[in-house]
Amino acid sequence: MSGETQPAMIDPFGRHVTYLRVSVTDRCDFRCTYCMAENMTFLPKRDLLTLEELDRLCSTFVAKGVRKLRLTGGEPLVRKNIMGLIRNLSRHLQTGALSELTLTTNGSQLAKYADELADCGVKRINVSVDTLDHDKFRKITRWGNLGQVMEGIAAAQKAGIDIKINAVALKDFNDRELPAMIEWAHGQGMDFTVIETMPMGEIDVDRTHQYLPLSVFREQLEERWTLRDIPLKTGGPARYVEIAETGGRLGFITPLTHNFCEGCNRVRLTCTGTLYMCLGQDDAADLRATLRASESDEALSSAIDEAIGRKPKGHDFVIDRTARPSVGRHMSVTGG
Ligand code: SAM
Ligand code: SF4
Repeated sequence: MSGETQPAMIDPFGRHVTYLRVSVTDRCDFRCTYCMAENMTFLPKRDLLTLEELDRLCSTFVAKGVRKLRLTGGEPLVRKNIMGLIRNLSRHLQTGALSELTLTTNGSQLAKYADELADCGVKRINVSVDTLDHDKFRKITRWGNLGQVMEGIAAAQKAGIDIKINAVALKDFNDRELPAMIEWAHGQGMDFTVIETMPMGEIDVDRTHQYLPLSVFREQLEERWTLRDIPLKTGGPARYVEIAETGGRLGFITPLTHNFCEGCNRVRLTCTGTLYMCLGQDDAADLRATLRASESDEALSSAIDEAIGRKPKGHDFVIDRTARPSVGRHMSVTGG
């Protein structure tokens, strides 16, 4: 492929689709209470795309104008031979076709892979940390070990990878701790983003008790600190402020209190080759069948165009006591 930037895919609302998020596995070594039930049934291995198939699909998207690729999951770094896929995809960074190759991770395997990720051209990653208290961390992740994640973060920083910490805001769990977490992250030169809980997939707990509107959280923060809106765009849905007192950046991802769909530039691919044009809608396109039906990428390219032509205007997540999850699939299927 040449280093020239390809024309972007354009959806019916004129939005340029330049960002692909790929869930490379639905499996995970944690069981965060807001994300998964403790006893999850995962996809049978035969339904998964092979790493070669994932490479072919991602590369087709890159050829169609995708400039930013994020690997997520489940936990992307628990997929067997994941570094082989990342290494192969990094060729698109070298040609200039891709401007960013990144991932969202729980950090548990980072100490092992940080150097290799940096060597593949991964410049920044998102690491999810919901609390800095070891016991609470075990409680929220059920199976996670905070010490291991901290070692991973240190290894990534040492390898020169920029880190953004993602935390889901959970009422009566971490809301009072979040300011201290933000200070910690900013003190280490890391950006920080808070995420509202989204009603995705059946879990064991009632989400209405966990939901903390970020508009409320922001008001609380403004009593303590000076927040200044900044126009930072990272290609994702977060809106950023700069905090004068910490000198760092704080992002808000607010699907419930603020609809961020107007500027949506992304689509999501699952590990079975299903393309979701919106995180909050069920409509999807099965690219696996098309991929397997032909060795040429032509049919695949047309199937992608057809799917982009159906990208909806937006989502309508609702959290209320009586409703089932707005979207039946778990976040670990489509990735965050
Ligand atoms: N395992 C990796 C991790 O935890 O970073 C990547 C996948 S995880 C599904 C991606 C992000 O989605 C994490 O930051 C996680 O906290 C967030 N997440 C999971 N379930 C969510 C939910 N129901 N509402 C809001 N965010 C959620
Ligand atoms: Fe795993 Fe990430 Fe979901 Fe936690 S949020 S269970 S780490 S996929």
